[in-house]
Amino acid sequence: MHYLIKKSYTELFNEEPDFDAKLMYSKAFKGYNAKVVYSRDYKEFRLSHSWKEVSDEIKIGLLQSLMNKIQSTDISTVNIDLYNIFLKKIPALTPKTKTDNILEDSFERINSQYFNGLLLKPNLEWGGKNFRTLGTYDYNTDTIRISRILKKDQMLMDYVMYHEMLHKKFRYKNTGKRTIHHSREFREQEKKFLEPDMEKKLTNFLRKEKIRESFWFN
Ligand SMILES: [Zn+2]
Repeated sequence: MHYLIKKSYTELFNEEPDFDAKLMYSKAFKGYNAKVVYSRDYKEFRLSHSWKEVSDEIKIGLLQSLMNKIQSTDISTVNIDLYNIFLKKIPALTPKTKTDNILEDSFERINSQYFNGLLLKPNLEWGGKNFRTLGTYDYNTDTIRISRILKKDQMLMDYVMYHEMLHKKFRYKNTGKRTIHHSREFREQEKKFLEPDMEKKLTNFLRKEKIRESFWFN
């Protein structure tokens, strides 16, 4: 067993691990993604390549967070604190390689109107023509992705951009067992969008676009 897994487990649970485990670095993950694939007797911790350069102390925090998750425990350690501090620094560590003029204008409009221009610019890219996922914020690569169908409606695009920027601002709350993405403070700030009835406008827009699409494909 990899010494880091053994150390992480022993310091978290105060007992020796009673399973087999492996630590792997995967090129399949972007940014600082990581996951654990597990059964009762075997656990495989898969970390993105970027983790190779990170110090052992922070890596232990990552492994312990994953262990908390699979064991449904919520034990805190100094290493987990270090890991959480590290996560906050990811945007500064991530090179900005992707952008787009339309998305950048949208980001700047929202940033100056709602964030006093203080939010650092993330990677910005268009997603596919997705009706269900209109936008995402990926914490591990500091990337906002906006569905291509919003390209034709600036106000709706700005609204979805605003939502994703709030994710970047608030990040998520980790209680160990549960991850809260839309906290109360998130929802309260989301309501401050100046244009009224945005959810309704979004629904109407999507309905019309779906009808158009279905005619195209018939
Ligand atoms: Zn959201």
